[in-house]
Amino acid sequence: MEFPIRCFTCGRVLAQKYKAYKDKVDAGEEPKKVLDDLGVDKYCCRRMFLSYTDLAKEVVLFRRN
Ligand SMILES: [Zn+2]
Repeated sequence: MEFPIRCFTCGRVLAQKYKAYKDKVDAGEEPKKVLDDLGVDKYCCRRMFLSYTDLAKEVVLFRRN
């Protein structure tokens, strides 16, 4: 599924930061440093990034025809 638009706990809008986060982490930067740089300071918001798994390719196998 897609990255959530808002933090589930505090409601802060986070989706616009996900691409920058993903690009930097894929390039080898520490997730901690990337989240600090993006200004994601609350741990409820940080877990949204750290625990997110993209399941779109798996879920699409179960679509209705
Ligand atoms: Zn939050």
